[in-house]
Amino acid sequence: MSTGLFYHPIFLEHDTGWGHPERAQRLVTILDEIEKRKDLNNIETVLPDKASIKDIQLNHSDNYIKLIQNTSEIKGIKHLDPDTAVCSKSYESALHACGAVLNAAKSVYEGIYRNAFALVRPPGHHALFSQAMGFCIFNNIAIAAKYLKNVMGLRKVVIIDWDAHHGNGTQDSFYNDPDVLYISLHQFPFYPGTGSANEIGTGIAKGFNVNIPMFAYSGENTYLLAIERIISPIVYQFSPEFILISAGYDGHYKDPLTQLLLTSNTFFKLSKAVIEIANEVCSGRIIFSLEGGYYLKGLSQSVVETLRAMVGYNNPVPYPSEELKERNSSMEIEQIIEIQKRYWKL
Ligand SMILES: [Zn+2]
Repeated sequence: MSTGLFYHPIFLEHDTGWGHPERAQRLVTILDEIEKRKDLNNIETVLPDKASIKDIQLNHSDNYIKLIQNTSEIKGIKHLDPDTAVCSKSYESALHACGAVLNAAKSVYEGIYRNAFALVRPPGHHALFSQAMGFCIFNNIAIAAKYLKNVMGLRKVVIIDWDAHHGNGTQDSFYNDPDVLYISLHQFPFYPGTGSANEIGTGIAKGFNVNIPMFAYSGENTYLLAIERIISPIVYQFSPEFILISAGYDGHYKDPLTQLLLTSNTFFKLSKAVIEIANEVCSGRIIFSLEGGYYLKGLSQSVVETLRAMVGYNNPVPYPSEELKERNSSMEIEQIIEIQKRYWKL
């Protein structure tokens, strides 16, 4: 079975204005890098459908959907918040971005693809029920999780979010839902301000929101430690039927927006680890949805590393190793484990 790569050219038409980091060139560079890798076979590029209004309503208010729909009429560029800009094509692009993630999830669930990557923009994980935020319009991954649960009838879904920013929108969507376990690794304290380890969910969903905040200059060792000691055992115990990855690549050490020290090889290792977890707990059912990542070379190499892990390579591309002064965050990991021990066997 092959890996599905869900991409639509309309994603390039979502214009955020001159100098905006979340720009079309991000996807162009990734596609170029994929094209260059002749060893990257067994990937099928798929043109996704657009999501229906009914799909978007799974996670957003009617008024908000209407507001975004109306941006199709604007001339030039309009700001929905200080960071989030739209043009007349953004609504269509956002519907297709969400559609790509839904198509990816559905096709993997139905066994058409072994796994899938949704190469989309705008990204989604900051988008709230009635509010655009942090470059995000519709919360693609949250809509996909709700679709799997409410439309496809799955009982338990995991979202792992390794974008360098906390996915406040996604956390919000499932904060009182014990059937969707949200796990986020992110720089903290940092934009958007949420994401402390003490945000653990509410009511019957206490324990089903797992934040793993990372201080600036944390790097690969801490991320791999977090997977081994926290994420892997929790996902095994939760035993989901599907794993969705909010795959942001702005934790790359050269990313202009963040201060983490991950490399493209780190993203191979993270990808491999979550694929292995999916193989053990849910017959390999996993999809990746692009969130952030603003250093183009690192972004494109890192996405390719994820794709290499998805098609079954065992080792990352041997890029020259970097001398990175990674902060030792093992103490903080121990503190997070103490919090999580109230809900999980760690
Ligand atoms: Zn981000």
